[in-house]
Amino acid sequence: MGQTADLVVIGGGPAGAVSAWLAARDGAQVVLVDPDEAPDRIEGMSPRLHAWLGRSGMLEAGALQPVPAPRRSLWSGTMHGGNHELLVARPAFDHALRAAAARAGAQVITGVATPEPGAAVLGSGERLAAALVLDARGRRGAARRPVRRGPATVSLGAWLAGPPSTPPQTVVLPFDAGWAWFAGMGGGRAWLQVTLDAADPHQARPAARLARSLAQCAAWLPEGFRPESDGVLVRESSPLLSGVPDDLSVLPVGDASAAIDPLSGHGMFWTVSSALAAAAVRRTLAAGRDAGETPSRGASSGSGPRTCSCGRPGSGATSFAPRRAAPPRPSGARARASPTTRPPTTQRPPSAPSAGWWSRTAACPSARS
Ligand SMILES: Cc1cc2nc3c(=O)[nH]c(=O)nc-3n(C[C@H](O)[C@H](O)[C@H](O)COP(=O)(O)OP(=O)(O)OC[C@H]3O[C@@H](n4cnc5c(N)ncnc54)[C@H](O)[C@@H]3O)c2cc1C
Repeated sequence: MGQTADLVVIGGGPAGAVSAWLAARDGAQVVLVDPDEAPDRIEGMSPRLHAWLGRSGMLEAGALQPVPAPRRSLWSGTMHGGNHELLVARPAFDHALRAAAARAGAQVITGVATPEPGAAVLGSGERLAAALVLDARGRRGAARRPVRRGPATVSLGAWLAGPPSTPPQTVVLPFDAGWAWFAGMGGGRAWLQVTLDAADPHQARPAARLARSLAQCAAWLPEGFRPESDGVLVRESSPLLSGVPDDLSVLPVGDASAAIDPLSGHGMFWTVSSALAAAAVRRTLAAGRDAGETPSRGASSGSGPRTCSCGRPGSGATSFAPRRAAPPRPSGARARASPTTRPPTTQRPPSAPSAGWWSRTAACPSARS
């Protein structure tokens, strides 16, 4: 007999981990699948997002030590200051969020899966049926759907080494071929990311493109920083907008739904916001199923006891103890900490962000100022 769960979340970046955490707190049987292969890189998180994650209890005290960094941005020839961002190592950040989902009761499987209507197929070939599947595979998820794509851009990232006395700071710079983000972590290390047209007229190797970009930006950066090695992380960074899903048993969330231009600096904020929106959709669909309004696919999220056994690829199967579907909802401070702990009162089908939303986001050059 196939395995069942209330919710399978494929992808354990911020969108998937927050979605799994929210659903597990609602008492759903949740399986979160992620290969745990996030590449080493630094991203900037807004203090607002960090504060929300802390208040909501997702980040255990001391689990993540973001580096606060004042930010300078060069726009129209003028250097602006006054803002700051929190620098986080993404693998550590993603681990912290997945750990929160596991603490809330989600089963975290290390591996890959593919969504299909009413189920996720694990890398091992095992089929995990679920009332709802969230596709949180990031841009890889978006790539599997009809997608609207902005200008083809690529981001090259690499570690730099420099004077240990250089304090933490970030610098955002436009230059001839694109724009750069320098994230000085202190202690003589910095992450440099340059975002360029995907097509390179010189057809240079990524390390050479990055070195050329660094040379063009050097006058505006702290002195003495050089690439640590030839290692370059190449990521697609074109804005993407997924088509509206026609099957509500597999919903895209986060970048799998819409991936915004990294120049905004708000990708993680967006993707967590998307998880909060997806939670409202999940609760609405479950309420409709419970009321018999929507035909259920795979396992229902009803309140009877159930068993769920899930394969951990490479290490056999793990069994869930039978569990009631919904413990009491969080109340008091915990409920206030999360704006989405109450179920929605209206039942409306989910919709993807409009093309207008995409256009405004992609066209805003100063969002990272
Ligand atoms: C170059 C670049 C720089 C950026 N810089 C910033 C920044 O400074 N600040 C910011 O806020 N945002 C930034 N962003 C945006 C941010 O990275 C994304 O918005 C955010 O990571 C999206 O989260 P997500 O959970 O939707 O997807 P992801 O973070 O991409 O997570 C997807 C997860 O799914 C997993 N996965 C993939 N395929 C499978 C599969 N088949 N089965 C199971 N799991 C799978 C992946 O391993 C990954 O863990 C940047 C984006 C780019 C491209």
